[in-house]
Amino acid sequence: MLGVTPDADVAIIGAGLSGLLLARALLTSPPTGPGTARPRVLLADPRPAPAGQSVTYSSWADRPTPLDPWRIGSWRSLRTVAHDGTVRAVALQRWRYDATDWGRARADLLAEVGADPRVTLLLEPVQTVRDSADGTRATVQGATTQLTARWAFDSRPPSVEDLRTGFGTRPVCRPPALLQTFCGVWVHADADVADPATATLLDFSADDGPELGFAYVLPVSARTLMVMAVRMGTCPDLPDPMPAIARAVGATPWRPGARESGITPLVAAPAPRRLGRRVLAIGRRGGRVRPSTGYALQRIAADAAAVSRSLDEHGHPFAVPPDPTWQLALDRVWLRALARERAGFEPALLSLFTGAPVDSVLRFLDGDARPRDVAAVVRALPPAPFLRALAG
Ligand SMILES: Cc1cc2nc3c(=O)[nH]c(=O)nc-3n(C[C@H](O)[C@H](O)[C@H](O)COP(=O)(O)OP(=O)(O)OC[C@H]3O[C@@H](n4cnc5c(N)ncnc54)[C@H](O)[C@@H]3O)c2cc1C
Repeated sequence: MLGVTPDADVAIIGAGLSGLLLARALLTSPPTGPGTARPRVLLADPRPAPAGQSVTYSSWADRPTPLDPWRIGSWRSLRTVAHDGTVRAVALQRWRYDATDWGRARADLLAEVGADPRVTLLLEPVQTVRDSADGTRATVQGATTQLTARWAFDSRPPSVEDLRTGFGTRPVCRPPALLQTFCGVWVHADADVADPATATLLDFSADDGPELGFAYVLPVSARTLMVMAVRMGTCPDLPDPMPAIARAVGATPWRPGARESGITPLVAAPAPRRLGRRVLAIGRRGGRVRPSTGYALQRIAADAAAVSRSLDEHGHPFAVPPDPTWQLALDRVWLRALARERAGFEPALLSLFTGAPVDSVLRFLDGDARPRDVAAVVRALPPAPFLRALAG
């Protein structure tokens, strides 16, 4: 397999969100610069598209996104519910909160990308990705097969330790590694129980545990809703969505649909993007998941476009905008405050949505904030938990 001509121009390791959006960006963006026009792509992932698996991704958007075709719900107004039951309404103005059927999107994207004659799909796990003399070399199938490409993009999910140590490039990151655990159920109620125009984003009234826990409710119709319990802390056990479901449906009979759960590590350490002369980390591996909130869709979509542009304009993929250092510093303080106190954090999260302009809050949560957005958010937050986190 090795030789003068590489097997592909681009090897993408992992056909998840970042790998598929990058493959699609490379295959569809019109070339304008001197770089590789319409590259040959090798896409490696041991996991074929799962049939019928339910995964709902949600995100903020103020413009069209690559996942719009798979949108199952979209809300322009939200409500928050405090621990004591106080309800507040938040109008999102030009923004929307979208829910996307990621199970279907992944299957469709994989079929679309795989049908392109320039793409080779490899249903095998890649073990190593390294620079070689004239490109990159990926080892698959217990080192029996090697593949070469000019550029490699690695999205294999990192472990918490990988994130804390920058894949062994620095000492263990001191701020705590927290876990965002979530467990949700599609609820089919026998009568109308929800206003489909309004999603509930932060409901603190159904969780009394020692760690910060809340629920969100996404009604795609008056009778069909995703009720998700979320917890942020150090305990890896999944939270129980039943108290939140009971609050959402009251006495109305209901049937459970698909269940969804997961664990996202929240680690505020810089993620090295460049893993070799010709290897770029993408997706969660490349630090594209916002450490303090777990949101990633917009950042991953923007990164795919930036990588494709860089290849086209510069002939290499590394001209992507770096994350501002102050953003990581803020994420660290945020996670430290979250790790230290539950009681102070609930009012902090609630006051975000009532005390700062929606534009600033949503750009902050997505990781796209400008200095003036950060200033607005900092002014809206109660200072005590964050000052204590800084002092600690
Ligand atoms: C359950 C869950 C729900 C989430 N919900 C949201 C949400 O609502 N909104 C949001 O913004 N973010 C959400 N996130 C965070 C983030 O958007 C996702 O983690 C997103 O999938 C990250 O994209 P990725 O490409 O880095 O990783 P993935 O999408 O996980 O893709 C990685 C791919 O690598 C493949 N792979 C693994 N090992 C190998 C190997 N050895 N060789 C080749 N391929 C390999 C895997 O099979 C997988 O397909 C969620 C995360 C999880 C885990």
